[in-house]
Amino acid sequence: MTKKERYQIVLDYFEKNIPNAQTELQYTNPFQLLVAVILSAQCTDVRVNQTTPAIFKKYSNVQALANATFDELFPLIKSISYPNNKTKHLIGMANMLIEKFGGEVPMTVNELIQLPGVGRKTANVITSVIDEQPNMAVDTHVFRVSARLGLTTKATTPLAAEKQLIQYIPQHLIHKAHHWLILHGRYTCLARNPKCNSCGLTAVCLYYKKQAKVNVKTANN
Ligand code: SF4
Repeated sequence: MTKKERYQIVLDYFEKNIPNAQTELQYTNPFQLLVAVILSAQCTDVRVNQTTPAIFKKYSNVQALANATFDELFPLIKSISYPNNKTKHLIGMANMLIEKFGGEVPMTVNELIQLPGVGRKTANVITSVIDEQPNMAVDTHVFRVSARLGLTTKATTPLAAEKQLIQYIPQHLIHKAHHWLILHGRYTCLARNPKCNSCGLTAVCLYYKKQAKVNVKTANN
């Protein structure tokens, strides 16, 4: 099977089975999504969604967050991972939005990565979710699922995986494919115990094939 065929099968499967893939983070505008994605580093979306309503209520716009003090904001964030850094990043991010970007969330990766707390992955999420730009954010789920399915080969870093994925996924599907791979990794292709019995991709999955061989070998010993 060629790489192109492999991609086609996988993308067709997701298109059919997860037609309405979207982020599970709750937000109503780009500013809120940016806050949520910064908070989501090393943290589950569920936990972030429990945290953000109080933040959005108290700081309803960029200016309000820019005016926040560390001691005011920290208590709202302390239940999630790295609260110290995230508190500083959110206040710094809001201030830079005002000083450098006229209070608006910029929509290019190069501009976004200038903001405190925003790396390439976050910038890719913002631009692909808000603007459907063909940018692939590679998190732990995307990285693992892509490798297991053979969409990426010997990719040792998220950037290497990102480059391989955007080479083969049609541009108009990249923003959706990001969510497909995340959702598949979150609910089916789990890190420790993937639910292969309920996965429709066993026929193309390299990981599944390898495991099947190991099981046959073990049974024969
Ligand atoms: S067959 Fe198993 S390992 Fe492969 S993608 Fe599906 S759940 Fe993941």
